[in-house]
Amino acid sequence: MDLTDIRTVRFLMEKHGFSFSGALGQNFLINPHVCPKIAELGSTSPENTGVLEIGAGIGVLTKELALRYKKVIVLEIDKGLKPILDETLAGFDNVEIIYADIMAINLKELITAGFEGLDAVCCANLPYYITSPVIMRLLDEDLPLKSITVMVQKEAADRITALPGTRECGAISIAIRYYGTPEKLFGVGRGKFMPSPNVDSTVIRIIVDKKYNLNEIDKIRFFRIVKSVFSQRRKQIINPLSVEFHISKDKARDILEKCGISSRARAEELSLDKFIALNEAIGGNL
Ligand code: SAM
Repeated sequence: MDLTDIRTVRFLMEKHGFSFSGALGQNFLINPHVCPKIAELGSTSPENTGVLEIGAGIGVLTKELALRYKKVIVLEIDKGLKPILDETLAGFDNVEIIYADIMAINLKELITAGFEGLDAVCCANLPYYITSPVIMRLLDEDLPLKSITVMVQKEAADRITALPGTRECGAISIAIRYYGTPEKLFGVGRGKFMPSPNVDSTVIRIIVDKKYNLNEIDKIRFFRIVKSVFSQRRKQIINPLSVEFHISKDKARDILEKCGISSRARAEELSLDKFIALNEAIGGNL
């Protein structure tokens, strides 16, 4: 069954009385080249890899993952898709479908137990209404994931992959780079989905290399710094820093100078190493 064929999709939907939910970000891929490409780029050692997918839809990407990888666990919030998935994924005994909300399930337990003895990666065409919370959840909970290869809205990809020290850089860019190294893989136009969304998409990959390993207290302070300075990104960081940490501007200036950061610097001018240094200096001064 060709799940990228519009007539097949319509037939399955009618047969099982399914209709798209815009609120759940249900834009299904109908281009024959995109899913194989995402699946290929998920991992270089398919025999030893377990893939977590978020959002099965009618199973178009799930099928490509199942053809290549040892095991696939896919989370789908919409139980209305069950009769369709029962049909489209019948015969794939390496696929486990869990009807649950990605934001509510215990991911550590799921990945540890589900992919025992395997390297775990995430591959998905994400529901765009929860792109950032999903990616941050995947990164922030110390899950044993090696990489995250996901399709996101083009603008989200630009923010996620923006380099620190550039105008496009925001809190999410720094947060992602704290845990891993993001890159853009390829673009996907809006016409390759059914129904067609009014945005274009980009597939990105985040290698979860965890270069920085702060303890919990330092990590919380690091994210407080990032959030506060980017929430007022046009202001010099000395202002939000002194407010957030209840310190005088003179004190904030001293701390910045100690880190080799100009007291006139704005958030988007700081490298990740400068954020780390700033975090350490603020921690030592509280
Ligand atoms: N993988 C399919 C494809 O590429 O055609 C579907 C992708 S579609 C963009 C996103 C899917 O995520 C939908 O099937 C939707 O029902 C599901 N979804 C939305 N919110 C979810 C959530 N909180 N947890 C799990 N799945 C969710």
